[in-house]
Amino acid sequence: MSKPDWTAIRADFPLLSRQVHGKPLVYLDSANTAQKPAAVIEAVDDFYRRHNANVSRAVHALGTEATEAYEGARGKLARFLNVQPDDLVLCSGTTLAINLVAYSFALPRLQRGDVILVSRMEHHANIVPWQLIAQRCGARIEAVEISPEGVIDIEALDRQLAAGAKLLALTHVSNVLGTINPVREICARARRNGVFTVIDGSQAVPHQPVDVASLGCDFYAFTGHKLCGPTGTGGLWARREHWQSMPPFLGGGEMIKEVRFDGTVFNDPPHKFEAGTPNIAGFIGLGAAVDYLSGIGMPAIAEREAALLRYATGKLSEVPGLKLFGTAPDKAAILSFLVEGAHAHDLATLLDLEGIAMRSGHHCAHPLMQFYGVPATCRASLAFWNTEAEVDALVAGIAKVRRMLA
Ligand code: PLP
Repeated sequence: MSKPDWTAIRADFPLLSRQVHGKPLVYLDSANTAQKPAAVIEAVDDFYRRHNANVSRAVHALGTEATEAYEGARGKLARFLNVQPDDLVLCSGTTLAINLVAYSFALPRLQRGDVILVSRMEHHANIVPWQLIAQRCGARIEAVEISPEGVIDIEALDRQLAAGAKLLALTHVSNVLGTINPVREICARARRNGVFTVIDGSQAVPHQPVDVASLGCDFYAFTGHKLCGPTGTGGLWARREHWQSMPPFLGGGEMIKEVRFDGTVFNDPPHKFEAGTPNIAGFIGLGAAVDYLSGIGMPAIAEREAALLRYATGKLSEVPGLKLFGTAPDKAAILSFLVEGAHAHDLATLLDLEGIAMRSGHHCAHPLMQFYGVPATCRASLAFWNTEAEVDALVAGIAKVRRMLA
């Protein structure tokens, strides 16, 4: 295969050519949300202009087109993740996906005193739902600890798995540290101990090929807007036996076969878990997004981002007074850091004036911030459309801010 033309690929993203505060935009916040290529924007536009109708309800031509396009998007996503379409529930994103597992799968199974393992590096979306159901059933949350480099302590985890934990909630890739967790190995260890695994794939699927079927997990959640798709899209894959054993989470239209006051018959999975009118246009856009990413090739994207990460790590490490958080050997292109003498928010605000969009804050990961003893970090997250020149702009921007604050 010929090498991707990264300059041409960058030009596929209309927003990347705009200016901010009179400077060319340097977008370093794709871990927060990804920018959208024209193909995605056009797919959403085309749906509303030419095909708009509700799904699975009307027999008219538009209804059929909308249903086919929506189910077509499920098929594309399933191929992208190497899973069966019937095992993939479409929903508004990772947050809803994990709440669905928590309420529909875990809550009926857990009892007082049962342990839910949650890693120290989870996003709040993979912490708070577990706390909410633990309060209801009397289960206990136990943290899976990490090293200062941001690597899961596998020996300690092994002890926790063997001690009778019921469920493990783990991110595939940390949204703060970039650590790529050895999910396949950890899921195998969990399975040997009869522990269910819920993997948060939000930061993994946009950046590397993910063969969900081969990971050995019980559940895999992801969110579409980080995958170059529209907001309000995402999904949850589960082993078929789990879908078949789970009661519905939300009730309403689409998720039923027949409603009677003396008993309702639910639809089959995945529709049983998709109550109400879905984000049809959003999923058609997400289908276009995975077509677009597959067209470039996920291995090429992973390679490109690894090169950008190496470059950025080298450059940032040379900045005096800059401390990087997260130095795992296996890492995605996410760089969290603090600079001596500059508060994270001040640095991000002043860099914004240079046209550089970078997140500062706790990144929805309070327990991780508590581990490092800091209230906030700056986070530059790179994607395949970024350039070495943009990393240089970040480094120059930090130097300028340091001079201003000195
Ligand atoms: N999990 C991780 C690791 C994330 O980075 C995010 C988003 O920042 C989420 C979960 C939540 O995703 P969403 O808000 O799209 O549901």
